[in-house]
Amino acid sequence: MNAPVTNPNEQLKELENMSVFSHPEFDNHEQLTFFSDEKTGLKAIIAVHNTNLGPALGGCRMWHYASDEEALRDVLRLSRGMTYKSALANLKLGGGKSVIIGDPRQHKSEALLEMMGRCLERTGGQYIAAEDSGTSVPDLQVMSRFTDNVAGITERTGIDGLPCNGDPSPATAYGCFVGLKAAVKHQLGRDDLTGLKVAIQGVGNVGYRLAKHLRQAGAELYVTDIHEEQVRLAVTELDATAVAQEEILGLDVDVLAPCALGAVLNDFSIPQIKAKVIAGAANNQLALAKHDQMLQQRGILYAPDYVINAGGIIDIYYERVGHEHTKVRAHIDTIADTLQEIFRRADDSGRPTGEIANELAEERFMNK
Ligand code: NAD
Repeated sequence: MNAPVTNPNEQLKELENMSVFSHPEFDNHEQLTFFSDEKTGLKAIIAVHNTNLGPALGGCRMWHYASDEEALRDVLRLSRGMTYKSALANLKLGGGKSVIIGDPRQHKSEALLEMMGRCLERTGGQYIAAEDSGTSVPDLQVMSRFTDNVAGITERTGIDGLPCNGDPSPATAYGCFVGLKAAVKHQLGRDDLTGLKVAIQGVGNVGYRLAKHLRQAGAELYVTDIHEEQVRLAVTELDATAVAQEEILGLDVDVLAPCALGAVLNDFSIPQIKAKVIAGAANNQLALAKHDQMLQQRGILYAPDYVINAGGIIDIYYERVGHEHTKVRAHIDTIADTLQEIFRRADDSGRPTGEIANELAEERFMNK
Protein backbone atom coordinates (compact mmCIF):
# COMPACT_ATOMS: atom_id res chain seq x y z
CA MET A 1 0.00 0.00 0.00
CA ASN A 2 1.23 3.47 -0.84
CA ALA A 3 1.97 5.89 2.00
CA PRO A 4 -0.71 8.59 2.33
CA VAL A 5 0.17 11.68 0.34
CA THR A 6 0.59 14.73 2.57
CA ASN A 7 0.03 18.16 1.11
CA PRO A 8 3.50 19.84 1.25
CA ASN A 9 1.87 23.12 2.29
CA GLU A 10 0.27 21.44 5.28
CA GLN A 11 3.58 19.84 6.21
CA LEU A 12 5.21 23.24 6.06
CA LYS A 13 2.45 24.76 8.21
CA GLU A 14 2.95 22.07 10.86
CA LEU A 15 6.66 22.76 10.93
CA GLU A 16 5.99 26.47 11.24
CA ASN A 17 3.68 25.79 14.18
CA MET A 18 6.43 23.88 15.96
CA SER A 19 9.13 26.46 15.37
CA VAL A 20 11.28 26.95 18.44
CA PHE A 21 13.83 29.76 18.10
CA SER A 22 11.28 32.00 16.36
CA HIS A 23 8.39 30.96 18.62
CA PRO A 24 6.52 34.04 19.95
CA GLU A 25 7.09 32.83 23.53
CA PHE A 26 10.74 31.77 23.07
CA ASP A 27 12.23 34.87 24.74
CA ASN A 28 15.86 33.71 24.69
CA HIS A 29 15.38 30.47 26.59
CA GLU A 30 18.76 28.99 27.47
CA GLN A 31 17.77 25.39 27.04
CA LEU A 32 14.80 23.45 25.77
CA THR A 33 14.87 19.68 25.86
CA PHE A 34 12.32 17.26 24.43
CA PHE A 35 12.19 13.76 25.94
CA SER A 36 10.33 10.72 24.76
CA ASP A 37 10.30 7.13 25.92
CA GLU A 38 8.32 4.59 23.93
CA LYS A 39 8.16 1.98 26.69
CA THR A 40 6.54 4.17 29.35
CA GLY A 41 4.79 6.55 26.94
CA LEU A 42 6.61 9.54 28.41
CA LYS A 43 6.57 12.69 26.29
CA ALA A 44 7.99 15.66 28.14
CA ILE A 45 9.52 19.07 27.58
CA ILE A 46 11.90 20.74 30.03
CA ALA A 47 12.41 24.47 29.54
CA VAL A 48 15.15 26.49 31.22
CA HIS A 49 14.56 30.18 30.67
CA ASN A 50 17.38 31.83 32.57
CA THR A 51 19.96 30.69 35.12
CA ASN A 52 21.79 33.97 35.75
CA LEU A 53 20.79 33.94 39.41
CA GLY A 54 20.98 30.17 39.98
CA PRO A 55 19.54 26.84 38.82
CA ALA A 56 16.06 27.02 37.36
CA LEU A 57 13.30 25.90 39.71
CA GLY A 58 9.70 25.41 38.63
CA GLY A 59 6.79 23.01 38.66
CA CYS A 60 6.44 19.83 36.63
CA ARG A 61 2.96 19.95 35.11
CA MET A 62 1.15 16.95 33.66
CA TRP A 63 -1.66 17.92 31.36
CA HIS A 64 -3.70 16.46 28.54
CA TYR A 65 -2.58 19.06 25.98
CA ALA A 66 -4.60 19.22 22.77
CA SER A 67 -1.38 19.46 20.73
CA ASP A 68 2.40 19.45 21.07
CA GLU A 69 2.32 23.15 20.18
CA GLU A 70 0.03 23.89 23.14
CA ALA A 71 2.46 22.06 25.46
CA LEU A 72 5.43 23.96 24.04
CA ARG A 73 3.68 27.30 24.44
CA ASP A 74 2.70 26.51 28.01
CA VAL A 75 6.16 25.39 29.10
CA LEU A 76 7.84 28.45 27.52
CA ARG A 77 5.44 30.92 29.14
CA LEU A 78 5.55 29.25 32.53
CA SER A 79 9.34 28.92 32.69
CA ARG A 80 9.83 32.58 31.78
CA GLY A 81 7.37 33.50 34.54
CA MET A 82 9.46 31.58 37.07
CA THR A 83 12.56 33.64 36.24
CA TYR A 84 10.64 36.81 37.07
CA LYS A 85 9.05 35.34 40.19
CA SER A 86 12.31 34.09 41.71
CA ALA A 87 14.19 37.29 40.87
CA LEU A 88 11.60 39.42 42.66
CA ALA A 89 11.49 37.00 45.60
CA ASN A 90 15.24 37.61 46.11
CA LEU A 91 16.11 33.96 45.54
CA LYS A 92 19.29 32.59 44.04
CA LEU A 93 17.22 30.74 41.49
CA GLY A 94 16.55 30.95 37.80
CA GLY A 95 13.36 30.13 35.95
CA GLY A 96 12.31 26.83 34.42
CA LYS A 97 9.35 24.53 34.06
CA SER A 98 8.57 21.10 32.69
CA VAL A 99 5.48 19.55 31.16
CA ILE A 100 4.54 15.93 30.73
CA ILE A 101 2.07 15.49 27.88
CA GLY A 102 -0.77 13.22 28.95
CA ASP A 103 -3.86 12.91 31.11
CA PRO A 104 -2.65 12.47 34.70
CA ARG A 105 -5.66 10.29 35.52
CA GLN A 106 -5.09 7.95 32.56
CA HIS A 107 -1.46 8.05 31.56
CA LYS A 108 0.42 8.48 34.82
CA SER A 109 2.29 5.37 35.97
CA GLU A 110 5.14 4.65 38.33
CA ALA A 111 7.35 3.70 35.36
CA LEU A 112 6.56 6.97 33.58
CA LEU A 113 7.40 9.02 36.69
CA GLU A 114 10.63 7.09 37.17
CA MET A 115 11.54 7.82 33.56
CA MET A 116 10.80 11.52 34.16
CA GLY A 117 13.23 11.32 37.10
CA ARG A 118 15.92 9.97 34.77
CA CYS A 119 15.21 12.82 32.31
CA LEU A 120 15.53 15.39 35.13
CA GLU A 121 18.90 13.87 35.99
CA ARG A 122 20.09 14.41 32.40
CA THR A 123 19.65 18.19 32.70
CA GLY A 124 22.71 18.21 34.98
CA GLY A 125 21.11 20.20 37.78
CA GLN A 126 20.18 23.16 35.59
CA TYR A 127 16.49 22.50 36.29
CA ILE A 128 14.80 21.44 39.54
CA ALA A 129 11.21 20.21 39.41
CA ALA A 130 8.50 20.82 41.99
CA GLU A 131 4.86 19.76 42.14
CA ASP A 132 2.33 21.46 39.86
CA SER A 133 -1.10 20.77 38.30
CA GLY A 134 -1.33 17.04 37.60
CA THR A 135 1.63 16.05 39.80
CA SER A 136 1.76 15.53 43.56
CA VAL A 137 4.36 15.27 46.30
CA PRO A 138 4.30 11.41 46.06
CA ASP A 139 4.84 11.68 42.25
CA LEU A 140 7.91 13.86 42.80
CA GLN A 141 9.13 11.36 45.39
CA VAL A 142 9.01 8.62 42.72
CA MET A 143 11.03 10.86 40.36
CA SER A 144 13.55 11.45 43.15
CA ARG A 145 14.61 7.76 43.00
CA PHE A 146 16.73 8.73 40.02
CA THR A 147 17.67 12.34 40.66
CA ASP A 148 18.24 15.01 43.28
CA ASN A 149 16.77 17.58 40.91
CA VAL A 150 13.36 17.67 42.59
CA ALA A 151 12.10 19.92 45.40
CA GLY A 152 9.18 20.24 47.79
CA ILE A 153 9.20 16.59 48.86
CA THR A 154 10.50 16.48 52.41
CA GLU A 155 8.51 16.71 55.62
CA ARG A 156 9.35 19.79 57.60
CA THR A 157 7.97 22.33 60.03
CA GLY A 158 5.67 24.58 58.05
CA ILE A 159 5.52 28.36 58.14
CA ASP A 160 2.88 28.18 60.88
CA GLY A 161 5.09 25.93 63.06
CA LEU A 162 2.95 22.87 62.20
CA PRO A 163 4.23 19.70 60.45
CA CYS A 164 4.09 20.03 56.66
CA ASN A 165 4.48 17.35 53.96
CA GLY A 166 6.03 19.73 51.45
CA ASP A 167 2.79 21.53 50.47
CA PRO A 168 3.75 25.18 49.81
CA SER A 169 0.18 26.52 50.29
CA PRO A 170 0.60 27.72 53.92
CA ALA A 171 3.67 29.72 52.88
CA THR A 172 1.88 31.11 49.82
CA ALA A 173 -1.09 32.16 51.96
CA TYR A 174 1.15 33.85 54.52
CA GLY A 175 2.97 35.74 51.73
CA CYS A 176 -0.36 36.90 50.32
CA PHE A 177 -1.38 38.15 53.75
CA VAL A 178 1.88 40.09 54.12
CA GLY A 179 1.50 41.52 50.60
CA LEU A 180 -2.16 42.40 51.09
CA LYS A 181 -1.28 44.38 54.22
CA ALA A 182 1.44 46.28 52.32
CA ALA A 183 -1.03 47.12 49.53
CA VAL A 184 -3.69 48.26 52.00
CA LYS A 185 -1.17 50.44 53.80
CA HIS A 186 -0.10 52.06 50.53
CA GLN A 187 -3.54 52.55 49.02
CA LEU A 188 -5.77 53.12 52.05
CA GLY A 189 -3.17 54.39 54.52
CA ARG A 190 -4.11 51.93 57.25
CA ASP A 191 -2.18 49.34 59.27
CA ASP A 192 -5.12 48.06 61.23
CA LEU A 193 -7.23 45.54 59.32
CA THR A 194 -10.14 45.62 61.79
CA GLY A 195 -13.34 45.90 59.78
CA LEU A 196 -11.50 45.86 56.43
CA LYS A 197 -13.84 44.28 53.88
CA VAL A 198 -12.14 41.59 51.81
CA ALA A 199 -13.76 39.51 49.05
CA ILE A 200 -12.03 36.19 48.37
CA GLN A 201 -12.68 34.27 45.15
CA GLY A 202 -11.80 30.63 45.87
CA VAL A 203 -11.31 29.37 49.42
CA GLY A 204 -9.13 26.36 48.60
CA ASN A 205 -5.64 25.56 49.88
CA VAL A 206 -4.40 29.15 49.70
CA GLY A 207 -7.63 31.17 49.83
CA TYR A 208 -8.91 29.50 53.00
CA ARG A 209 -5.60 30.00 54.82
CA LEU A 210 -5.45 33.62 53.67
CA ALA A 211 -8.99 34.06 55.01
CA LYS A 212 -7.85 32.67 58.36
CA HIS A 213 -4.99 35.19 58.64
CA LEU A 214 -7.35 38.01 57.71
CA ARG A 215 -9.99 36.93 60.18
CA GLN A 216 -7.40 36.81 62.97
CA ALA A 217 -6.46 40.37 62.02
CA GLY A 218 -10.10 41.46 62.35
CA ALA A 219 -11.11 41.69 58.67
CA GLU A 220 -14.69 41.16 57.45
CA LEU A 221 -14.76 38.34 54.90
CA TYR A 222 -16.91 37.70 51.83
CA VAL A 223 -16.22 34.42 50.09
CA THR A 224 -17.24 32.31 47.13
CA ASP A 225 -16.19 28.97 45.70
CA ILE A 226 -17.56 26.45 43.24
CA HIS A 227 -17.39 23.88 46.04
CA GLU A 228 -20.16 24.44 48.53
CA GLU A 229 -18.32 22.69 51.40
CA GLN A 230 -15.38 25.11 51.12
CA VAL A 231 -17.75 28.06 51.48
CA ARG A 232 -19.54 26.41 54.40
CA LEU A 233 -16.23 25.92 56.20
CA ALA A 234 -15.32 29.61 55.82
CA VAL A 235 -18.79 30.67 56.98
CA THR A 236 -18.84 28.44 60.07
CA GLU A 237 -15.17 28.64 61.08
CA LEU A 238 -14.29 32.19 60.04
CA ASP A 239 -17.61 33.97 60.26
CA ALA A 240 -17.40 34.80 56.53
CA THR A 241 -20.39 35.87 54.44
CA ALA A 242 -21.15 33.61 51.47
CA VAL A 243 -21.50 35.40 48.13
CA ALA A 244 -22.70 34.15 44.72
CA GLN A 245 -19.89 33.33 42.29
CA GLU A 246 -21.01 35.95 39.77
CA GLU A 247 -21.14 38.69 42.44
CA ILE A 248 -17.73 38.38 44.04
CA LEU A 249 -15.69 40.52 41.62
CA GLY A 250 -18.07 43.50 41.72
CA LEU A 251 -18.68 43.49 45.47
CA ASP A 252 -18.49 46.78 47.38
CA VAL A 253 -15.41 45.90 49.44
CA ASP A 254 -11.96 47.38 50.16
CA VAL A 255 -9.90 44.47 48.82
CA LEU A 256 -10.48 41.81 46.19
CA ALA A 257 -8.37 38.66 46.59
CA PRO A 258 -8.55 36.37 43.53
CA CYS A 259 -7.44 32.94 44.78
CA ALA A 260 -8.98 30.61 42.21
CA LEU A 261 -8.44 31.20 38.50
CA GLY A 262 -6.34 33.15 36.04
CA ALA A 263 -7.58 35.87 33.65
CA VAL A 264 -10.17 37.20 36.13
CA LEU A 265 -9.06 40.80 35.52
CA ASN A 266 -10.41 41.48 32.05
CA ASP A 267 -12.52 43.84 29.89
CA PHE A 268 -15.70 42.54 31.47
CA SER A 269 -14.71 42.44 35.16
CA ILE A 270 -12.55 45.58 35.53
CA PRO A 271 -15.37 48.13 34.99
CA GLN A 272 -17.40 46.35 37.72
CA ILE A 273 -14.68 46.22 40.38
CA LYS A 274 -15.37 48.48 43.38
CA ALA A 275 -12.42 47.34 45.52
CA LYS A 276 -9.50 49.77 45.69
CA VAL A 277 -6.92 47.00 46.12
CA ILE A 278 -6.42 43.68 44.31
CA ALA A 279 -4.22 41.29 46.24
CA GLY A 280 -4.61 37.54 45.77
CA ALA A 281 -2.76 34.31 45.03
CA ALA A 282 -4.14 33.24 41.65
CA ASN A 283 -1.58 33.01 38.85
CA ASN A 284 -1.92 35.11 35.68
CA GLN A 285 -4.77 37.27 36.96
CA LEU A 286 -4.49 39.81 34.12
CA ALA A 287 -6.20 38.44 31.02
CA LEU A 288 -4.00 40.66 28.81
CA ALA A 289 -1.09 43.02 29.48
CA LYS A 290 -3.36 46.04 28.78
CA HIS A 291 -5.49 45.20 31.82
CA ASP A 292 -2.63 46.30 34.06
CA GLN A 293 -3.12 49.84 32.75
CA MET A 294 -6.92 49.61 32.84
CA LEU A 295 -6.72 48.93 36.59
CA GLN A 296 -4.37 51.84 37.11
CA GLN A 297 -6.68 54.15 35.16
CA ARG A 298 -9.55 53.14 37.42
CA GLY A 299 -7.44 53.97 40.50
CA ILE A 300 -7.23 50.34 41.64
CA LEU A 301 -3.93 49.21 43.16
CA TYR A 302 -2.96 45.82 41.74
CA ALA A 303 -0.38 43.75 43.68
CA PRO A 304 1.25 41.81 40.80
CA ASP A 305 0.31 38.15 41.23
CA TYR A 306 3.74 36.60 40.84
CA VAL A 307 5.17 38.94 43.49
CA ILE A 308 2.48 38.41 46.12
CA ASN A 309 2.17 34.63 45.59
CA ALA A 310 5.92 33.87 45.91
CA GLY A 311 5.70 32.48 49.47
CA GLY A 312 5.52 28.91 48.15
CA ILE A 313 8.67 29.10 46.07
CA ILE A 314 10.53 30.76 48.95
CA ASP A 315 9.48 27.84 51.18
CA ILE A 316 10.66 25.27 48.60
CA TYR A 317 13.96 27.09 48.10
CA TYR A 318 14.78 26.73 51.80
CA GLU A 319 14.20 22.99 51.61
CA ARG A 320 17.30 22.87 49.40
CA VAL A 321 19.51 25.20 51.42
CA GLY A 322 18.46 24.29 54.98
CA HIS A 323 14.89 24.75 56.15
CA GLU A 324 14.21 26.74 59.30
CA HIS A 325 10.67 27.97 59.46
CA THR A 326 11.60 31.23 61.20
CA LYS A 327 14.07 32.06 58.39
CA VAL A 328 11.47 31.21 55.77
CA ARG A 329 8.96 33.47 57.47
CA ALA A 330 11.44 36.36 57.63
CA HIS A 331 12.20 35.92 53.92
CA ILE A 332 8.50 35.85 53.03
CA ASP A 333 8.08 39.11 54.96
CA THR A 334 10.29 40.77 52.32
CA ILE A 335 7.41 40.42 49.83
CA ALA A 336 6.05 43.56 51.52
CA ASP A 337 9.30 45.48 50.79
CA THR A 338 9.29 44.44 47.13
CA LEU A 339 5.67 45.48 46.73
CA GLN A 340 6.33 48.82 48.42
CA GLU A 341 9.14 49.48 45.96
CA ILE A 342 6.88 48.58 43.03
CA PHE A 343 4.07 50.81 44.31
CA ARG A 344 6.48 53.70 44.88
CA ARG A 345 7.98 53.41 41.40
CA ALA A 346 4.50 53.16 39.89
CA ASP A 347 3.44 56.36 41.69
CA ASP A 348 6.61 58.20 40.66
CA SER A 349 6.44 57.16 37.01
CA GLY A 350 2.68 57.05 36.51
CA ARG A 351 3.02 53.56 35.06
CA PRO A 352 1.05 50.44 36.09
CA THR A 353 2.34 48.07 38.77
CA GLY A 354 2.58 44.95 36.57
CA GLU A 355 4.84 46.76 34.13
CA ILE A 356 7.03 48.05 36.98
CA ALA A 357 7.30 44.55 38.49
CA ASN A 358 8.58 43.16 35.18
CA GLU A 359 11.09 45.97 34.90
CA LEU A 360 12.36 45.45 38.45
CA ALA A 361 12.72 41.70 37.88
CA GLU A 362 14.70 42.31 34.68
CA GLU A 363 17.04 44.66 36.56
CA ARG A 364 17.74 41.82 38.97
CA PHE A 365 18.30 38.88 36.60
CA MET A 366 19.57 40.38 33.37
CA ASN A 367 23.29 40.93 32.78
CA LYS A 368 24.26 39.18 36.04
P1 NAD B 1 -7.02 25.08 45.15
O1 NAD B 1 -7.47 24.26 43.98
O2 NAD B 1 -6.77 24.41 46.45
O3 NAD B 1 -8.08 26.25 45.42
C1 NAD B 1 -8.74 26.94 44.44
C2 NAD B 1 -10.18 27.07 44.87
O4 NAD B 1 -10.87 27.87 43.92
C3 NAD B 1 -10.90 25.74 44.94
O5 NAD B 1 -11.56 25.59 46.19
C4 NAD B 1 -11.90 25.81 43.79
O6 NAD B 1 -13.10 25.10 44.04
C5 NAD B 1 -12.14 27.29 43.69
N1 NAD B 1 -12.62 27.74 42.37
C6 NAD B 1 -12.28 27.28 41.15
N2 NAD B 1 -12.96 27.96 40.20
C7 NAD B 1 -13.70 28.88 40.84
C8 NAD B 1 -14.60 29.90 40.41
N3 NAD B 1 -14.88 30.07 39.12
N4 NAD B 1 -15.18 30.67 41.34
C9 NAD B 1 -14.92 30.48 42.65
N5 NAD B 1 -14.09 29.55 43.13
C10 NAD B 1 -13.49 28.75 42.22
O7 NAD B 1 -5.76 25.87 44.63
P2 NAD B 1 -4.70 26.68 45.51
O8 NAD B 1 -3.52 25.84 45.73
O9 NAD B 1 -5.42 27.29 46.66
O10 NAD B 1 -4.27 27.83 44.48
C11 NAD B 1 -5.13 28.93 44.22
C12 NAD B 1 -4.50 29.81 43.15
O11 NAD B 1 -3.23 30.29 43.60
C13 NAD B 1 -4.22 29.10 41.82
O12 NAD B 1 -4.40 30.03 40.77
C14 NAD B 1 -2.76 28.72 41.93
O13 NAD B 1 -2.16 28.59 40.66
C15 NAD B 1 -2.21 29.91 42.68
N6 NAD B 1 -0.98 29.62 43.43
C16 NAD B 1 -0.97 28.65 44.39
C17 NAD B 1 0.19 28.39 45.10
C18 NAD B 1 0.23 27.34 46.18
O14 NAD B 1 1.20 27.32 46.95
N7 NAD B 1 -0.77 26.48 46.30
C19 NAD B 1 1.37 29.12 44.82
C20 NAD B 1 1.33 30.15 43.85
C21 NAD B 1 0.14 30.38 43.16
